[in-house]
Amino acid sequence: MQYRNAGASGLKLPVISLGLWQNFGAEADDVATRDIITTAFDHGVTHFDLADNYGPPQGSAEERFGRILHEELAGYRDEMVISSKAGYTMWPGPYGDWGSRKHLIASCDQSLRLMGLEYVDIFYHHRPDPATPLEETMGALASLVKAGKALYIGLSRYYASEAIKAQRILEGLGCPCILDQVRYSILDRTVETDHLLSALDGKIGMICFSPLAQGLLSSRYLSGSIPAGSRAKENRFLKEETITPAMVAKLNRLDMIASRRGQSLSEMALSWVLRNPGVSSVLIGVHSSEQLLENLSTVGQGWNFSEEELTEIDAIVFAQ
Ligand code: NDP
Repeated sequence: MQYRNAGASGLKLPVISLGLWQNFGAEADDVATRDIITTAFDHGVTHFDLADNYGPPQGSAEERFGRILHEELAGYRDEMVISSKAGYTMWPGPYGDWGSRKHLIASCDQSLRLMGLEYVDIFYHHRPDPATPLEETMGALASLVKAGKALYIGLSRYYASEAIKAQRILEGLGCPCILDQVRYSILDRTVETDHLLSALDGKIGMICFSPLAQGLLSSRYLSGSIPAGSRAKENRFLKEETITPAMVAKLNRLDMIASRRGQSLSEMALSWVLRNPGVSSVLIGVHSSEQLLENLSTVGQGWNFSEEELTEIDAIVFAQ
């Protein structure tokens, strides 16, 4: 594994971190999920990313992770970076979501109870809240650090202008923000049009979710069919209708570039995000240890792309 500092902080993250948004809920296979987590840790994936609402149902991924942690990895807590988040709907009534102090503190307490932890390493506000003063949300995050319930603070889905405002407030509170968690992949360039990386200016690291565009940027859909058990077959967060003939053609053209580079499509997609030193880590999700190991093989392949390769990739992505 290779490690990079999270922004300007001293916290080192593995370049590939494991997210438990999908595939770790109540219905997930106990043996397979244990295998994924222990295999990841054995390969230097020290960072595990959770949130209060991961499941389904909400909370079940944290509960499962806590169980596996205590049964399989007891004694290794100090070698791990565990994150959680609050901000999406968790319980009924006006305090069950968004960014009030009331919600964030209650949700963090629930996550700690579910995982059986005294503290999380990183606690994120999961999404900006237009109806709560940013000072209140950031103040709540700083309180969690001061109470010893979180070591570092992160933002999630904050784009440039809000991230900078949040960082200034947190600095004033003596609690620097170390990460902004945002979607970034060959297929999703929102952070580029937002100029997020230059706005963060190396002070806050970018940790990128869905670097494989939920599996599109892998061999999963290259044949044009939708395999049983795939995320597109579940048709919830990745819709079946996304796998159009035009999308499949695009993916196959990207796969040809990957082959020329001696990589699988998923390896190239991860390298492409990691080529940027402002990216502290990519957050992958996996269904099996086989997928995990393929993705981990990216480490050590180098992140270099020629100008021609980058131009060719952009031409494929932005073609009408
Ligand atoms: P990815 O883009 O890595 O997609 C993961 C999916 O891709 C897997 O479930 C699997 O799909 C498929 N896949 C992965 N590796 C391979 C492979 N080698 N070969 C074939 N298919 C593969 O990331 P996610 O969208 O899962 O997001 C990752 C993490 O990011 C989350 O767990 C979460 O921690 C974080 N996240 C944060 C968000 C936020 O709002 N802050 C939002 C979303 C994610 P299949 O199941 O079909 O096999």
